[in-house]
Amino acid sequence: MELYSLGVQELRRMLDKGEVTAKEIITSVYSRIDAVEEKIKAYVTLPRNEAFLMADKADRDLSAGTKKLMTGIPVAVKDNMCTKGVPTTCSSKILRNFIPPYESTVTSKLIEAGYVLSGKTNLDEFAMGSSTENSGFHTTRNPWDTERIPGGSSGGSAAAVAADECSAALGSDTGGSIRQPASLCGVVGMKPTYGRVSRYGLVAFASSLDQIGPITKNVTDCAMLLNVISGRDFRDSTSAPVLVPDFTAAIGKDVKGMKIGVPKEYFIEGMDPEVDSAVREAIRKFESLGAVPVDVSLPHTGYAVATYYVLATSEASSNLARYDGVKYGFRAEGKDLIDTYMRTRAEGFGPEVKRRIMLGTYALSSGYYDAYYKKAQQVRTLIKDDFEKVFREVDVIVTPTSPTAAFRMGEKTEDPLQMYLADIFTISVNLAGVPGISVPCGFTTGNLPIGLQLIGKHFDEETLLTASFAYEQSTEWHKRKPAL
Ligand code: GLN
Repeated sequence: MELYSLGVQELRRMLDKGEVTAKEIITSVYSRIDAVEEKIKAYVTLPRNEAFLMADKADRDLSAGTKKLMTGIPVAVKDNMCTKGVPTTCSSKILRNFIPPYESTVTSKLIEAGYVLSGKTNLDEFAMGSSTENSGFHTTRNPWDTERIPGGSSGGSAAAVAADECSAALGSDTGGSIRQPASLCGVVGMKPTYGRVSRYGLVAFASSLDQIGPITKNVTDCAMLLNVISGRDFRDSTSAPVLVPDFTAAIGKDVKGMKIGVPKEYFIEGMDPEVDSAVREAIRKFESLGAVPVDVSLPHTGYAVATYYVLATSEASSNLARYDGVKYGFRAEGKDLIDTYMRTRAEGFGPEVKRRIMLGTYALSSGYYDAYYKKAQQVRTLIKDDFEKVFREVDVIVTPTSPTAAFRMGEKTEDPLQMYLADIFTISVNLAGVPGISVPCGFTTGNLPIGLQLIGKHFDEETLLTASFAYEQSTEWHKRKPAL
């Protein structure tokens, strides 16, 4: 086994036993990056020198006996989280030269825990998209088939984990951007409960939906990384003052008697029959482990995509107003201030970002606000209530993560609506604020990964981890690696 192919838990064990050094691990990971990155293009920035310096520091801590949870472990970070001194671009031309003067809370916590930053990963510009094709720089390739997209918007992070170009990664999820690419790349990805993880230093897309979470090679690694990044942060007033349990304690518990809701609205016409049968097979697997499937209904599911695209674009139009070429980022000089604003934004933003700013501005404008934004907020409440009702009956909900496996590059770029539908199964979770995880549950006949989504109650990531670990242990899907 090459070091680059190992996950967090395994590397932690080896480092702690002194079987390997942090320097050897980062050397192995960078040799892998050198070998495959040209094909995958998972990264936007590869801070090789910083990474080796961080590994040196980790080795000093290890020999001094002051190691922490992530000491020496190479983690990739989606390029919409601020890393002090390391460019943070959001894969947008408007932030191409932005070097943050401060560290996001999640990366501060990772630094505190001793991690090694392997690099900053590619995304759809400002996390708006489902394929990384909206990146202002390049499209990331799916490691299972490089003619296909890795999903998005955290496609770079998911591809980097799947291609063994890091041990684990962070992504962000506003409508599915952790879970959908994890599903399409055959890895594990969790969107924690809204408020579980601080958003300080995460470049805002839609602040009431955005949440940071782990993308990992297995469920145990997910729990380990969640332990590091979770918790109340006074710099983000939406981070919740709730206790952070030891998530790894949820690993290995029994699922006997666990009630698993199967919502009929998530098995729809038009979804790939291979996805349908893999998910149904997974439900049977849960049954064989002693869990009890229960048919449930989330009746407002059909409104989720429309609701999301009103709310997310409204929030985005407000959040992205700050990119004006004055305080930071790209500037195109105009003949006066207004002209400078207009040119900067016209040249700096890509087409999808502009589309969303226009949609959101429209939905918020006076005369339309009640019909669109306010109405969408009301429907959001109905969607949240759907989950609350079902969670009175069941412990988790099981659905497909994505209606199809990875699609071909270019297949949906001409039709934004088709692209928006890629998130049909993930979006409600963000609207409701509940946690969701995607775990590998099979492969298509074309050898493309299929993902299973488990949805939990507010602040009950533990049950999600218990259930997905039990499932993972009873299957072999997570052990497969793409041939690269
Ligand atoms: N694909 C969805 C969108 O385009 C979700 C993106 C995300 O979760 N960041 O908005």
